[in-house]
Amino acid sequence: MPQKVIGLIGGMSWESSAEYYRIINERVRDRLGGLRSARCLMWSFDFAEIEALQHAGRWDDATALMIEAAQRLERGGADFLLICTNTMHRMADSVQAAITLPLLHIADPTAERIRAAGLRRVGLLGTAFTMEQDFYKGRLSDRHGLEVLIPGDEDRALVHRVIYEELVQGRVEAASREAYREVIARLVERGAEAVILGCTEIMLLVQPEDSPVPLFDTTAIHAEAAVERALADL
Ligand code: GLU
Repeated sequence: MPQKVIGLIGGMSWESSAEYYRIINERVRDRLGGLRSARCLMWSFDFAEIEALQHAGRWDDATALMIEAAQRLERGGADFLLICTNTMHRMADSVQAAITLPLLHIADPTAERIRAAGLRRVGLLGTAFTMEQDFYKGRLSDRHGLEVLIPGDEDRALVHRVIYEELVQGRVEAASREAYREVIARLVERGAEAVILGCTEIMLLVQPEDSPVPLFDTTAIHAEAAVERALADL
């Protein structure tokens, strides 16, 4: 039985898609050894196009593009799909409804890891869309029983700005790392037992040593869950 083919909707941004590609291939090599690497397909967007729709609130147009990408990967022979960004899980249900392949939702393996660690009250860092809208927090609480804390107004604005003005443009700044450390510390003061890095570029900036509580990096968790699924029947 060959490995299943992982379909990746990426380019949001490519800085994090490159991490998915690296982690997926490293984990396959860890598991299978030698020259083994992942069987995968990636559709990579021009992120400028996506970002413009997000900030204009044109979610229906963004959904249409996401569905088109998913269908390309389905036609290309993927066995299951990943959306390589937390934010664009806003339209995960619409994407799933338009294809027959299963979609591996980023929040599910993340929440399962948190529950397996015996934790329940979590801080969430991500784009303003992810922190403020219900599509992500709602899934964490309704399906997985987590209590989700988001940063206060100014901290959310800072976290969002650093993502779009720095991280997705390949800039990793020490001052922003320090600012994120402070945002994390304030979430911990309010009772967070763990923090979800709920944007796939934050792992480029923040490491476990930047937090007094465990960090759950959605990029690595999602990529590792994909490998589990791809190798499940071997
Ligand atoms: N990669 C980011 C995320 O995980 C932000 C970029 C985007 O808006 O898709 O949410």
